Amino acid sequence: MNTKQNTKQCPACGTPFESAALRCKDHSVSGEWFDVFVCRRCGFASTEPQPSPETIGKYYASDAYVSHSDTRKGIVNKLYHLVRIKNAANKVNLVARLLPEGGELADAGCGTGYFLAACARRGWKVEGVEPNDAARAIAESRIGKPLFGSLSDAESAGRRFDVVTLWHVFEHLHDPNASIALLKRLLKPGGTLILALPDRLSDDATHYGEHWAAYDVPRHLSHFTPLALRLLAEKHGFSLENTTPMKFDAYYVSMLSEGLKGVGGTRAFVNGLIRGARSNRKAAGNGHYSSLIFELRIRN
Ligand SMILES: [Zn+2]
Repeated sequence: MNTKQNTKQCPACGTPFESAALRCKDHSVSGEWFDVFVCRRCGFASTEPQPSPETIGKYYASDAYVSHSDTRKGIVNKLYHLVRIKNAANKVNLVARLLPEGGELADAGCGTGYFLAACARRGWKVEGVEPNDAARAIAESRIGKPLFGSLSDAESAGRRFDVVTLWHVFEHLHDPNASIALLKRLLKPGGTLILALPDRLSDDATHYGEHWAAYDVPRHLSHFTPLALRLLAEKHGFSLENTTPMKFDAYYVSMLSEGLKGVGGTRAFVNGLIRGARSNRKAAGNGHYSSLIFELRIRN
């Protein structure tokens, strides 16, 4: 237990952080260690210290960051790409409940643009935001038009959308309060913000602890619970309309977490399957899936 004191407050509920609950290593890029402070009231957790927006880029400089590249090396990456195709279909179906044909959607942190391309085929008007130049270039060629490099650029261009999606992106953003306020300004009145986030109270998170792959410090700056997310959203005039589990993530995150514990190959694959199944089984009772999709509608 690290007892370093921290004066920061929980961005979701305002409770002061007391001490770091765990320390996590950046396994994929720097090898550096980071504290994770946890809010005792809502369970929100914060990576500390946080690299600044100017310096965080170096922590993304890795082939291991598969969401930004198209590498298919290794069984887990192969699985990731298969799951990504299936997940893209699930995501499109979820959005289809909210957005009529011709509606306007922006995907923030669109990576190489798989999901955006699927949305464009569905008949929606799509925009993408991606800060990583290499990933954005791939997405732009896939979509066939220039995309935004930042949320601020999209706002400056005066764009407003019916739906804005962030698939495992919001946890990467600095300052959750400023970020959700900016996302709200990108939405039309009554618009919907869709956030997919890991749940740090899931069984796989509890089991793997500091080795839980979804801590992914320092790229993940914030670590949410459903309560923390709801409190943050309500503070900014959103209502939580719906929560949907992402059941594949339990398996994928468990396999990656086995790797962080030093377990390799087939063993990591099998252990990940077992642990993922257990996480989903527990979540069927308590709602804490490895990852959840939150639908937030503007109410004022
Ligand atoms: Zn809190």
